[in-house]
Amino acid sequence: MSLSDYHYEVSHCHRCSYCKHMPFQLMKSQRFSAGCPSVAYRNFHSYSAGGKVILALSILEGRVKEYTETMADIVFECTMCGACQVKCRTYNYNLNVLEVMQELRIHLIENGQLIPEHLMVIEGLKREDNVFGEPKADRNKWLEGLNVKDINNEKADVLFHPGCRVCYDGEFWDNARGAVTILQEAGVDVGTAGKEDSCCGGRAYEMGFRGELVNYAEALASRIKASGATKLVTPCADCYGTFKALFPLVGQKLDVEILHITEYLDRLIKEGKIKLENEVPMKITYHDPCKLGRKGEPGILWEGEYKRVEPHIFAAVPEKPIKLGLNGCYDPPRDVLKAIPGVELVEMERNRAHSWCCGSGGGALEAFEDFSTWTALERVEEAKSTGAEAMVTACPWCERNFRDALEENDQKYEVYDVVDLVRKSMGR
Ligand code: SF4
Ligand code: SF4
Repeated sequence: MSLSDYHYEVSHCHRCSYCKHMPFQLMKSQRFSAGCPSVAYRNFHSYSAGGKVILALSILEGRVKEYTETMADIVFECTMCGACQVKCRTYNYNLNVLEVMQELRIHLIENGQLIPEHLMVIEGLKREDNVFGEPKADRNKWLEGLNVKDINNEKADVLFHPGCRVCYDGEFWDNARGAVTILQEAGVDVGTAGKEDSCCGGRAYEMGFRGELVNYAEALASRIKASGATKLVTPCADCYGTFKALFPLVGQKLDVEILHITEYLDRLIKEGKIKLENEVPMKITYHDPCKLGRKGEPGILWEGEYKRVEPHIFAAVPEKPIKLGLNGCYDPPRDVLKAIPGVELVEMERNRAHSWCCGSGGGALEAFEDFSTWTALERVEEAKSTGAEAMVTACPWCERNFRDALEENDQKYEVYDVVDLVRKSMGR
């Protein structure tokens, strides 16, 4: 696909601005009524999804004579969280704003508007197969001390994919090791890709670099085939959304069941293979990571066309599937938390498909730090407003961004991963 494939869609944006806010019927307060971090931060229409769609239309209709840095700022200072798309579609417009914004990024890069910080990430990725540009040889340090299969040497039923953030951020190692150990104790046959493990390509894609996603998707598909694994399990929501939603967009369907660690833990708890016995007396709220929730909904590659059926009416042929973000992973992490004795779970105003982003996606963390931090702190305020003593999430990128934003601003609030609380309840 390319930007020109979306001409019909961008010319049917109604300029309604629904993409900026929570749907009216779900709005609970003015304070947490914003839906789009980008336009809420900039307070200027161009930064909204609708504004970007107008830019796409102007490009496609030849009204853009020059590509500028301001244009790149508008397009890239966005977390690609997808909240706009859910809002747009709540009002029944079958406009895929997220795909339009993705193609807009690729189009701007092709026309010389590269974000230097993103380019650095891509160079490091090409060199070391991770988004931090850290030595590839260090990727498996998190595994030290664990007795886990290497699928390059022996078959395993489950391929555990940690993701770059877990591999290169020591704060997440105990949790990843804990997750693997809990699975093993529940009788799961776990392996990792050892020296062949690499990035999923999702963050590069969202920065506008499609080729990286294609390459990493192909590499992972062949690793899975060789391993004989029937399940791919990851503790990273970013990787999960990449496997489920983005791989299909580049024609890669993995021949394996894709599970986030919370989905697998939920299943094993319900089957009685994991017992949560210790009390964890805490009042908590759960933050839905975008790529586990609305962006974890399975991706569908639609390659049809719009045909004129009446002078002003077009029909998508074949019918275009509508994704409302409702089929993401929402209940399993909540069910795991509810299964922990002593845990009281309260919801934030913006939850599930309408969750507010943590601020770390779409290359915002790497290139627009102030915006990324502001977005994270907005979410922390929302979490605090529930009266919860801690926020729990299910993605190392979200957790890292919340913790860093709090620390940089001398604020205190507890942030955990679902697995942290499972480990507490199991005394691990
Ligand atoms: S993806 Fe998120 S930040 Fe970007 S325009 Fe949509 S709602 Fe706003
Ligand atoms: S992108 Fe969708 S919600 Fe936003 S202005 Fe256009 S039609 Fe309305």
